[in-house]
Amino acid sequence: MSRLPPDVDTRPTDEPQASTPAPTQDNSVRGGTLYVVATPIGNLGDLSPRARDVLAGVDRIAAEDTRTTGVLLSHFGLRRPLVALHEHNEDRIAEQLIAAVLRGETLALVSDAGTPLVSDPGYALVRQARAQGVTVQAVPGPCAVIAALSISGLPTDRFCFAGFLPPKSNARRARFAEFLHEARTVVVYESSHRIGDSLADLVAVLGPERRICVARELTKRFEESHTASAAEVLAWHAADTHRSLGEFVIVIEGAAAASDDVNAERVLRLLLAELSPSRAARVAADITGASRKQLYEVALRLGSATQRNDENEDNSEP
Ligand code: SAM
Repeated sequence: MSRLPPDVDTRPTDEPQASTPAPTQDNSVRGGTLYVVATPIGNLGDLSPRARDVLAGVDRIAAEDTRTTGVLLSHFGLRRPLVALHEHNEDRIAEQLIAAVLRGETLALVSDAGTPLVSDPGYALVRQARAQGVTVQAVPGPCAVIAALSISGLPTDRFCFAGFLPPKSNARRARFAEFLHEARTVVVYESSHRIGDSLADLVAVLGPERRICVARELTKRFEESHTASAAEVLAWHAADTHRSLGEFVIVIEGAAAASDDVNAERVLRLLLAELSPSRAARVAADITGASRKQLYEVALRLGSATQRNDENEDNSEP
């Protein structure tokens, strides 16, 4: 008799094993269910057969923008009733949609591109649906976070997604400062208007050596991505004006523990542009966990101009 490896579960079960694909695929929709359906982020070939079947079969589709989804549906020869669900009407519309699902209707939720709820509307609908006992099922597919991460060449074992970067430089730098000690890979979205400024802020706060990947126009005609040190990626981006066009994901390698002191000093330098040495040392210590006293000593060494400013503003020791 052949021996099974110890991790094979031989107990009888009605359910297919988690690692075993179902032998037959039933893509029909079930009444009383909300389907959260991922749609392409560029290449229409990425709409899965199951997503297509579900969109074809539901009673109604809640869409971020009904015109965008209308174009997608007509490309695939589908016609279903559409209802707009966006950040301005989500709470109100969600109630009506859930009431219909509770009466037995089927509903699909889509956004303009990618996976709904990932920097897209849908959270209120899913939260309320779950609160009212509605079955919610995922029809997974494209997502720019995962696509960029998977090709970045940066660690994927632990990562976090931090949404869109703030539009203003000060807030953006503060956001990057939050990543100074983040050990996991961090993924952020950025728009074409700000990608250059954001990369410059990233270099200023996280340093020129931090490895990053910029991925633009994923799955589209002008798709490209580049992984290197932050300074090199900034130069790569600046070398071609086309690299400011389109949609962007930035993947940032997590902080190495060994660079903690370097990071603390970098935060301190940034803060010294705005604050007295004692205050800068206090805030830098809070952000980085480094010693306040040592940071104050570094701050005092970092220039007579800031020191004078300190004497005017605040003479107290930290
Ligand atoms: N729900 C979508 C998803 O699953 O990725 C994201 C929607 S969010 C409103 C749009 C942002 O995602 C863009 O500004 C860009 O940062 C990123 N993005 C979407 N499609 C992309 C693509 N094809 N290439 C690179 N980034 C993309």
